[in-house]
Amino acid sequence: MPARTGQQYIDGLRAQEREVWLGGERVRDVTKHKGLAGGVRAIAQLYDMQHDPELRDVMTFASPATGEPVGRSFDMPATKEALETRSKMMLNWARATCGMMGRSPDFMNVTFAAWGAAADFFGEKRPEFADNMRRYVEYIREHDVTLTHALINLQRSRNPTGMFNLEEGTALEVKRETDAGIIVRGARILATLGPLSDEIAVYSPRLARHSEEHSPFAVNFSIPCSTKGLKFLCRDSFDLGRSHFDHPLGSRFEEMDCIVFFDDVLVPWERVFLLYDVERLNTTPHVTHSTAHSAHQGAAKNLAKCEFVLGLALLMTQTLGNAHLPHTEERIGELMLYTELMRSCMRAAEADAATDRWGVMCPAILPVESTRNLMMNCYPRMIEILQLLGSSSFLLTPSEKDFEGPLQPDIEQYLATDNTEARERVKLFRLAWDVAGNAFGSRQVLYERFFASDPLTRARAMAAVYPKGEVIERVREFLGRDGEP
Ligand SMILES: Cc1cc2nc3c(=O)[nH]c(=O)nc-3n(C[C@H](O)[C@H](O)[C@H](O)COP(=O)(O)OP(=O)(O)OC[C@H]3O[C@@H](n4cnc5c(N)ncnc54)[C@H](O)[C@@H]3O)c2cc1C
Repeated sequence: MPARTGQQYIDGLRAQEREVWLGGERVRDVTKHKGLAGGVRAIAQLYDMQHDPELRDVMTFASPATGEPVGRSFDMPATKEALETRSKMMLNWARATCGMMGRSPDFMNVTFAAWGAAADFFGEKRPEFADNMRRYVEYIREHDVTLTHALINLQRSRNPTGMFNLEEGTALEVKRETDAGIIVRGARILATLGPLSDEIAVYSPRLARHSEEHSPFAVNFSIPCSTKGLKFLCRDSFDLGRSHFDHPLGSRFEEMDCIVFFDDVLVPWERVFLLYDVERLNTTPHVTHSTAHSAHQGAAKNLAKCEFVLGLALLMTQTLGNAHLPHTEERIGELMLYTELMRSCMRAAEADAATDRWGVMCPAILPVESTRNLMMNCYPRMIEILQLLGSSSFLLTPSEKDFEGPLQPDIEQYLATDNTEARERVKLFRLAWDVAGNAFGSRQVLYERFFASDPLTRARAMAAVYPKGEVIERVREFLGRDGEP
């Protein structure tokens, strides 16, 4: 099946009954559940964009296997032009969700496409894993499969000397092998998009400080979400079943986060890509460059999200009539700075892209890693700025029903501003509250702080690729200028 439509995506979710729990109840059909259906529709709309006559050329490319159009994020660009086209595709998806669905399917698609190109890496010690990877990447591309992923092992204890403790009975581990595959048991977090996906990928870059070479915790595989023994436990849904007026983002873009329990789950051999090999697991993101590609996807989301917050701030201050106040100008300037830094990093990553040993045009790592690290700190600040700009207007937000009730004349009279009718002002600030105030918005802040793992891990990732020698050399050179001016 070439690039799917939204309806085909929805049909695919219905065809696979998975074990999803939300609020103490088993969800039988995620496409109909009121806490999940809005998010399903949003992802479906992304797939429909692949068939929009005006966007089709950007959103898809010709399958190397069949020549049929398949999702562009499965492409492994060979040229800068192809990389830039993929970037436009990712921006189209990110802007369609205002940057609020960070785990849109392109995130995993670019990761697996990178692994497909670098399949030989997985087969260096066990050649069958290279074949498994190649076949799997072709399968997900040709069937336009939607993937979630769960990388993080829960920790029972927090031992500061050994970050990321791997403890039997908590972390996911391989319990035994059978003729059919490996049996895994344990728990993983945090599968965003879990109930809305066809398959779940499990791998972990978090063994970075694991000292053994061979470990039952070191594994990379992917299986259907309906696999026996797999259980998704959702947090509360932030789609409260309200109208788009009342809850503009929450009613549309609930991507859901889950704990995943693996209760002696069989992973068939053909879905195993790496086993017990700590060194290979740790080096996968950098050797295959999947980290650069997934960070590039993240950069598109960051840019779309910053643009949206900036646009919101501009409209809020226009509406309130405080745009000309000096402290407003200063805060808006700060939002513009973050937005343009995101854009600049993305362009720099594309301008400095280079072909890697797998023949793939790879975005430059430092600029994309920079947007990833910057967003962790600047997004919470951007939300703080929105709060400072909006103040009590966030709470002067009667519901859609109030506009039809007896207080409507009062609302219309007192909530209008010099340049905006009350209804438009309220609509805008209900949107702003979704971004900066309520559970949906708070989760977005937490997402930006942690979605790409914790700040220490990110700082280490940056330090690992930073050309430290060059800057040290400058200082050495200066220290050596004895007697010179
Ligand atoms: C909204 C959201 C969506 C996410 N989506 C996904 C997803 O789709 N897929 C996915 O795989 N992950 C996802 N994540 C998970 C994310 O990767 C993790 O939250 C992140 O890596 C941090 O891990 P943690 O939450 O377990 O925090 P913790 O590891 O508990 O870290 C909390 C703090 O304690 C410190 N710490 C941790 N362990 C130790 C230790 N042993 N000793 C000392 N200090 C320690 C950390 O540095 C951090 O400051 C998501 C997270 C969020 C918040």
